[in-house]
Amino acid sequence: MTANLLEFDLDGLAVFCEGLGEKRFRATQLFRWIHQRGASDFDQMTDLAKSLRQKLQSRAHVSSLPLISQHISTDGTIKWLFDVGDGNAIESVFIPEDDRGTLCISSQAGCAVGCRFCSTGHQGFSRNLTTGEILAQLWFAEHFLRKHLQTDDRVISNVVMMGMGEPLQNYTALVPALRAMLDDHGYGLSRRRVTVSTSGVVPMIERLSTDCPVALAVSLHAPHDTLRDHLVPLNRKYPLDELMQACIAYLAHAPRDFITFEYCMLDGVNDQAEHANQLIDLVQKHARQGLRCKFNLIPFNPFPASGLLRSPNARVQAFAKQLQEAGLVTTVRKTRGDDIDAACGQLAGDVKDRTQVQNRMAQQRTIMLVPAYSVQTQESGDA
Ligand code: SF4
Repeated sequence: MTANLLEFDLDGLAVFCEGLGEKRFRATQLFRWIHQRGASDFDQMTDLAKSLRQKLQSRAHVSSLPLISQHISTDGTIKWLFDVGDGNAIESVFIPEDDRGTLCISSQAGCAVGCRFCSTGHQGFSRNLTTGEILAQLWFAEHFLRKHLQTDDRVISNVVMMGMGEPLQNYTALVPALRAMLDDHGYGLSRRRVTVSTSGVVPMIERLSTDCPVALAVSLHAPHDTLRDHLVPLNRKYPLDELMQACIAYLAHAPRDFITFEYCMLDGVNDQAEHANQLIDLVQKHARQGLRCKFNLIPFNPFPASGLLRSPNARVQAFAKQLQEAGLVTTVRKTRGDDIDAACGQLAGDVKDRTQVQNRMAQQRTIMLVPAYSVQTQESGDA
């Protein structure tokens, strides 16, 4: 069996090259060909010795994931559905904005955490993705977009690990993928432009702070343990106080950073004035110990099995205002890609439902495949 070179960060690729009897610096050249130039054909890599190219041809390959479908929203959002075998699929979403291009990628097929409001959580857990499967989403999207937009410039400026799965429950595969994203010979993304979003796996937050302290987002969704136990079952293992302490400790390794608290607005469940007051108390109590944070309120994307509804817009705005008046930086996430089911896990869930797959494929044929937008890249400044 040959090795997929997308499985390696630069150090891993150096070890692989040494195993072929090659010097470590060859790995840097190879890494740049793969990640910066999107090459998968070793014959293209003309500055590598012919003998090395021959060895690579018999021992290695560079392969993305099989693409099941591509959906392009009228707002320019693109959602890709990839086949990861055994009837499982994962999703990646590209979100173009005026000053950035953000790719949201998946870390697992399914998810074991089982958050009440999450379509992926309702599907259960299938398996962890490998480093190569995580990186393949970025590799494919970046080089697809460059070709599509006819540019040699970087298109994806930000990566968020907010797709399917709990990234910190797939830690071993996650960290080399993050390192390849940050590596100057890879994608060269700044530490603050790569975000890991977690439901609160406390021990792994601590490990990430020393191994690779990228930006951290925490799926909070509730201001106290009783409600959070119900919405995010992992809270029973790592309750709010432990989670807040882990966030404070994380910030010690990421000075000038803040934690983004994601808060999905669920009608009548967590969106009342009393919940906003409880959140303010929670944050102010921990601010005294060094917690710096901002809030991102997320309008819920309803799906039938959840039994939950999206908070009315006026309620979301009132909730945001209440937090802002208490001095908490608060944004409301714009809904994107509504016409292509941008709610995480919706398309992948349909793969298991063969009737829905037929509908999707019929629908896909009617979708415009040339997006009407242009993406500007931004090389400096952090998110
Ligand atoms: S919100 Fe995230 S952690 Fe929770 S079930 Fe969905 S994918 Fe898993």
